[in-house]
Amino acid sequence: MISLKCPYCQVGLKVDETKLPEGIKSFKCPKCKKSIPVSLLNTEESGDNTSDTVLLTPIKTGLGVIVVTADAGTTEQTIPLHEGLITIGRKSATSGVTFPIETTDKLMSRSHISIEVKKDLKGGYKHYLSDNNSKNRTLYNNNYLEAGEVVVLHDNDEIVIGRTSLRFKA
Ligand SMILES: [Zn+2]
Repeated sequence: MISLKCPYCQVGLKVDETKLPEGIKSFKCPKCKKSIPVSLLNTEESGDNTSDTVLLTPIKTGLGVIVVTADAGTTEQTIPLHEGLITIGRKSATSGVTFPIETTDKLMSRSHISIEVKKDLKGGYKHYLSDNNSKNRTLYNNNYLEAGEVVVLHDNDEIVIGRTSLRFKA
């Protein structure tokens, strides 16, 4: 059993690692519903006392990831995508997005882009990218997204928010 705290809402969690499905990349926090990357399970051990034992809801995998390219102000980070709406922006005390990126890139807004993952008619998934009215806009494959514009992501598409480059991996 691993004890940890949800990095977003700080609720105490206990994880039975023997019950985690093989290949799982993240699970949903039962309290704040944000997705916690499984790699945190190995590093974020904490003393228990107030921890609750919770049933984990594994997030369906195979829906692609967004890889944050490392540069001077940012380490490489992987954002696991799941069905529904995912918001991404610069991590801060007030960011409140689904996936806060750890970066010193101040040109990235606290809530910069949204990706909505929806089932299509063929049983696959489509990924819809839009800009969250960010101050410095979003480059999608070298073109600025217009206000309200929504594009469908394809494997290896590049998204630039602030100075930071993200890549979609289907
Ligand atoms: Zn949480």
